[in-house]
Amino acid sequence: MRWLLSKVKPTAAHGRTCARCGSTSLKRKLATHHVPLTGKLAGRRVDVYRVEHDKCRDCGFLAPTPEGLAKIKRCTKVGIKLFRESLR
Ligand SMILES: [Zn+2]
Repeated sequence: MRWLLSKVKPTAAHGRTCARCGSTSLKRKLATHHVPLTGKLAGRRVDVYRVEHDKCRDCGFLAPTPEGLAKIKRCTKVGIKLFRESLR
């Protein structure tokens, strides 16, 4: 069973690099992500709370992790739907 357990170890920012300076010293950080809307909903925005980001220890650059991006996508979709319904 040991090999099975070793597979579910959480992978901390491993293998990812900073998009700005290329540093591999990244730190997980939860931050709010604002998504400005366009088209009919221009001027409004969806706030996605507690999105997982990688923060660079060297230059401070903040980028959403793949998990964070998935959450932003999901929440933006729901947010747009709610705005549309409230406009009816
Ligand atoms: Zn950096």
